[in-house]
Amino acid sequence: MKRIVIIGGGFAGLSAATGLLKYKKQVEVVLADRKSHADFLPLLPDILSGRIDDKFLSVDLNILAVKLCFEFINSSVIGVDLENKKISLIDKELLYDYLIIAAGSKTNFYNNVSISKSAFKLDDVSDAQSLLNCLNSQRIENFIISGGGYTGTEIAANIWRYFFKKGEKKRIIIIEKASKPLGMLPEWMKQYVLDNLLLLGVEMRLDARIEAYSENKVILSGGESFANAALIWAAGVKTQDFVKNTGCECDRQGRVIVDEYLRLNSNCFCCGDTAHFEHKGSPLRMSIQFAIMQGTFAAENIMRIIDKRELKKYRPLDLGYIISMANNKACGNVFGFKVKGWFAVLLHYSMCVFRSYSMANRLGLIKNLFKGL
Ligand SMILES: Cc1cc2nc3c(=O)[nH]c(=O)nc-3n(C[C@H](O)[C@H](O)[C@H](O)COP(=O)(O)OP(=O)(O)OC[C@H]3O[C@@H](n4cnc5c(N)ncnc54)[C@H](O)[C@@H]3O)c2cc1C
Repeated sequence: MKRIVIIGGGFAGLSAATGLLKYKKQVEVVLADRKSHADFLPLLPDILSGRIDDKFLSVDLNILAVKLCFEFINSSVIGVDLENKKISLIDKELLYDYLIIAAGSKTNFYNNVSISKSAFKLDDVSDAQSLLNCLNSQRIENFIISGGGYTGTEIAANIWRYFFKKGEKKRIIIIEKASKPLGMLPEWMKQYVLDNLLLLGVEMRLDARIEAYSENKVILSGGESFANAALIWAAGVKTQDFVKNTGCECDRQGRVIVDEYLRLNSNCFCCGDTAHFEHKGSPLRMSIQFAIMQGTFAAENIMRIIDKRELKKYRPLDLGYIISMANNKACGNVFGFKVKGWFAVLLHYSMCVFRSYSMANRLGLIKNLFKGL
């Protein structure tokens, strides 16, 4: 029996495991994740505003292991030996016949160790809980968000909502190093998001960087400073450290350059945020839809190798994206059509409920959303 090892029990890893379920008599599937649960990342910002209860965003990987018939190892992968087809976990090594690397991405602090230790980030549910504790603590007056991309703007809007509901006013300031935030979006969407943030009283500093952060004081490159401040870092992501140590070809963010079959070599596939798949001249953006589709696809191609069938080329299908802000305003592009306002909010949350990891979570989310609209 061939052994397929999956690194990462997120969207891509779990969809690969789901895809392999029907071959359970032919292959042994082992999934390793450093966490004991899978988190539904797109709704992390909503934990901050209190709209979504964090208990509906996670699912226990031990339970999914029984349902999807894989062996679950709750441990961090620290290395991959592609030549000898072996992965190293903290406490043991594991041989594989086929490997799927689906380890996602994490906040990039660009080697700034001091900021990485003191700033908040939003990589998983526990990060959202820490930031929520900070919002609850009453001590902080200024919330400084480094990075004016999707995540930064969603965090800003949700912090606004948290204090709006309490009838309090705090300063929320987005710091963006480019001359315009949301650089990758079309002009109309940028304007929509900016107008909305302005309406919420969110401030913005463009062409600016964080120079230093200590003892709750943030200093910007131009000299402006904010005392009594919390710094939230949303200025980019990178691939997990063990990936670059494999010696494979990676891009600027550390994403593994994969071929048209999503392969890194003949026995190893990569999918989700970890994979750099070139499409129309640029890498596919990090998104749950691609992670899910690629996980299924990698599983299918491995079975094609085992069954000695021809491999299939991966052709991405882009359903679109939506940026949702906490005051029931959202905008995006779905199936090539512009969407905004309430309709976009509805589409965003419907997608989240649909993609959620379990029926119990889906029902919980629906209840939360009806209560919080
Ligand atoms: C705040 C936020 C909001 C987002 N909003 C949206 C949105 O609205 N729409 C959208 O499409 N996408 C959104 N995304 C992006 C989306 O969540 C990712 O693209 C998606 O999660 C990628 O799936 P993945 O399976 O590649 O990685 P993940 O879902 O991150 O899963 C990776 C798994 O690998 C595990 N892992 C990592 N390192 C190791 C290791 N060394 N050993 C063992 N296990 C390891 C992790 O614990 C994790 O469980 C958002 C992301 C964030 C953070």
